[in-house]
Amino acid sequence: MMKKIQQILDECKELAFDLNFTRSRKWLEENPKGVVVGYMPIFFPREIVHAAGGLPVGIFGGGDRKQIVKGDAYYQSYICHIPRSIIELALDKHLDHMSGFIFPSICDVIRNLSGIFRQHKVGKFVKYMDFPQNFLPEIGGRFYQQEMEHVLSYMEEINGIKVTPESLNKSIGLYNKNRELIDYIYKIRQDYPWRLSIADVYHVVRAGTVIPVEEHNEILEQVCHYISGEVGEPQDKIKVVISGAFCEQPAIGLIRAIEEAGCYVVDDDYMLGSRMILGDIDNTSENPLEAISNAYIKQSQYSSSIYDVNDPKEYRLAKIVKDRGADGVIFASASFCDPSLLDAPIFQNAFNKMGIRYISFQYSENINQFKVIKEQVGTFSDSIKLWEGEPA
Ligand code: SF4
Repeated sequence: MMKKIQQILDECKELAFDLNFTRSRKWLEENPKGVVVGYMPIFFPREIVHAAGGLPVGIFGGGDRKQIVKGDAYYQSYICHIPRSIIELALDKHLDHMSGFIFPSICDVIRNLSGIFRQHKVGKFVKYMDFPQNFLPEIGGRFYQQEMEHVLSYMEEINGIKVTPESLNKSIGLYNKNRELIDYIYKIRQDYPWRLSIADVYHVVRAGTVIPVEEHNEILEQVCHYISGEVGEPQDKIKVVISGAFCEQPAIGLIRAIEEAGCYVVDDDYMLGSRMILGDIDNTSENPLEAISNAYIKQSQYSSSIYDVNDPKEYRLAKIVKDRGADGVIFASASFCDPSLLDAPIFQNAFNKMGIRYISFQYSENINQFKVIKEQVGTFSDSIKLWEGEPA
């Protein structure tokens, strides 16, 4: 079992950072009529692409593995890094097997990136996808369904496949399973975080954004089985929740450094899109698009992309901290990430009042020197261990 699980984890690591998207290229060879659809962070209902004979593939930038040569020319210096590396990937033909691209509405940077893709005629379709901020099913919900119908019409133009309620419900079922298994990993880790490092969790979840969901579910089953047993040794570390890193991803070295500096990460929003919907989506509906839309409206995770005045995100994050038994929060934001940085004071003001301890720092996907952050995290961990029980 030990060798097998190591092999699985190594494969996930390889897949997670494969900037040539080898698995999706192979899938296309195996499915010549298939449609590969790339989507940007943070969330996209992958079920609809799957049902329409497609493979949804997450594009999370070049990280610290892609040198930016041309990408800088497209953007001013005072914005985040991820759009530059995505442009670089596109111009260097890393994405040339993808037929369509979805840019979920999260910020102006992503909106402008969709315009650049359009200008350069990358892919057969480019869709800037608006997500509702009105949470009434008959208004926001209906609008969201129309957005999904629009994506499906693009796909139908390419491969002629018209989704049926049956095919869509089947896809929803597969992604329900996927969410359930990922959730299980987080549930086990909240009590036994030493059983699987956060870097391994990250690799496993991120691998699922570039391979067929059926394959990912098999991988997750094996990982779940592995961590259900007594493995690893507990260490003297505090437990933290990471918040704010939902779009541009920190380098894996930084993800690892937080744990090495004394913090078990028991929840995070690194791969938020894969965990955005909490619980199952109804897969028995005669109108599955409505079911997907209802789930987004009623079962979404807190996020900087959602402004729901009736369900304030600071209380939702506080509940995660409590439910996971975490000792504090690390606010990690990509430099110049407006959605994350504008939310930070809201969280921090509330946490000051609630007595939840936190620290914050900023990163860039291509920076791999973490000494200062490691010291900051280490001090945070030590201070909590030393002054446990004292008011924050
Ligand atoms: S990192 Fe933040 S600012 Fe940059 S594209 Fe993502 S959400 Fe927008």
